[in-house]
Amino acid sequence: MEKLSDDFNKRFLDLDENYKVIKNNIAEAAIKFSRKPEDITLLAATKTVPIEIINHGINLGIEHIGENKVQELTEKYDSYDLSKCELQFIGHLQTNKVKYLIGKVAMIQSVDSMKLAREISRLSLSHNVKTDILIEVNIGKEPNKSGIIPEKLNDLLYETATLPAINISGLMAIPPADANKRDTFNYFTNMYKYFIDISSKKLDNVNMQFLSMGMSADYTDAISAGSNMVRIGSALFGPRIYNKKF
Ligand SMILES: *Cc1c(COP(=O)(O)O)cnc(C)c1O
Repeated sequence: MEKLSDDFNKRFLDLDENYKVIKNNIAEAAIKFSRKPEDITLLAATKTVPIEIINHGINLGIEHIGENKVQELTEKYDSYDLSKCELQFIGHLQTNKVKYLIGKVAMIQSVDSMKLAREISRLSLSHNVKTDILIEVNIGKEPNKSGIIPEKLNDLLYETATLPAINISGLMAIPPADANKRDTFNYFTNMYKYFIDISSKKLDNVNMQFLSMGMSADYTDAISAGSNMVRIGSALFGPRIYNKKF
C-alpha cells in the first residue's frame, strides 16, 4: 500500500512539472507559427495511465483526453472526471465496436473508411446525437497502417459528408515511426496542405477545425508545420507501463 502511494506521489509531481513544460513548449511553437497559444489544443493520450493520475491531470487543466483501445476506455469510463474535460477516441476502431463509444466520446479521431463512418452515423442517429469525427490519413502510405491514403482522401470526404449524424471536424495523422526529423516535418507539411485545401472547398457538413498531429517526440515540429491539436502521452505521464490495472 505504502509503496503504491509513494509511486503515485512521484507520478503526480512529475505530471505537474511535465504539464508546465509542455504548455510552455506549445506556446513557444505556436508563437513562432504566428498563432496564439490557446489556438493549439493539447490532448492527453491516456492509454495505460491509471485513473488517479488522469484525474490529477484534469485538475491541472487538461481539457481533452484520448484513449486508443475500446476495452480500456470502457473499463475506465465511470471513473474519469469529465465535468471539465472531454473524452475522445484516438485509436484504430473496428466497426463492431463503435456501439461502445457513441454517446460517451466527444470525437472519434480515427475514421478511415466509409463503412466505419456509416456505422458511427447510424448509431449516433439512434442515440439522437451528432458525433464529431476526424478523417485519419495514412500520410506515409505505410502498408498495414490505419488511415486513408492521401489519393483517396477527397473521395472519402465527399462520401462521409453525406451522412446525417456526423460532423467532419478535421484531419488526423501519425507519420511513420521510423521517419527522420526532416521527413516527419515534410509529412506534417503535406497534411497541412490537405487541411488548407479542404478548408477552402467549403463543403456542407465539413468544418476543418482540427489538424491533429504531433506526439511526445515531435509536437513542436508538428505545430511549426500547422498542427493545431497535439496528442501527448509519455512526455506528460512518463513511460507507459503495460499489463497493469488502470
Ligand atoms: C499513444 C498515442 C499518442 C501519444 O503517444 P506519445 O508518443 O506517448 O506521446 C498519440 N496518438 C495516438 C493515436 C496514440 O495511440
